[in-house]
Amino acid sequence: MVLVYPGSFDPVTVGHIDIARRAAKFAERVIIAVLENPNKMPLFSVSDRLTFIKEAFAAEGSNIEVDSFSGLLAEYVVKKNADAILRGLRNSDDFESKYAASNSAIARSLGKDIETIFIPATPALDYVSGSIVREAAAHIYKNGLPDTFVAEHVPPSARAALEKKFKR
Ligand code: ADP
Repeated sequence: MVLVYPGSFDPVTVGHIDIARRAAKFAERVIIAVLENPNKMPLFSVSDRLTFIKEAFAAEGSNIEVDSFSGLLAEYVVKKNADAILRGLRNSDDFESKYAASNSAIARSLGKDIETIFIPATPALDYVSGSIVREAAAHIYKNGLPDTFVAEHVPPSARAALEKKFKR
């Protein structure tokens, strides 16, 4: 089974990494797919986001790959010949059942059956999101506070990049 794990990963966090690792235990391959969304103003470029993710998995000879995509997720999943979309489930906001159904319907219209697989967040990590880390890092670096929180929630390259963006 090949899974596409889509998201903004702006930047990748320990919550994202946990879900990808757990999925990679039962899937043949997990493709982490960074969404290039011109309508949203991300903090980091796609290329930076890819670099942080690659670093997070560099030490593992793993079945986790990293890629980026724009446009329709279902089209990308079909193009990759993947079987399912992978999502992490922190709370009810993550349970976008209408998206799951529409992705399946679009993929079917393109000639492929796909499912959405939800993996529940590890309880100790269910508060972690890209936006929490971005907001906290902005305050921490602007005000010269200790950055243990940032260091514990993102890979070292993302920590350094957050410091560079926000430090005054
Ligand atoms: P966010 O900014 O909320 O982290 P993303 O678009 O980067 O949003 O999330 C990509 C995917 O990772 C989504 O399926 C999301 O539910 C999942 N995810 C994000 N953080 C966590 C976490 N702490 N635990 C489990 N899944 C997570």
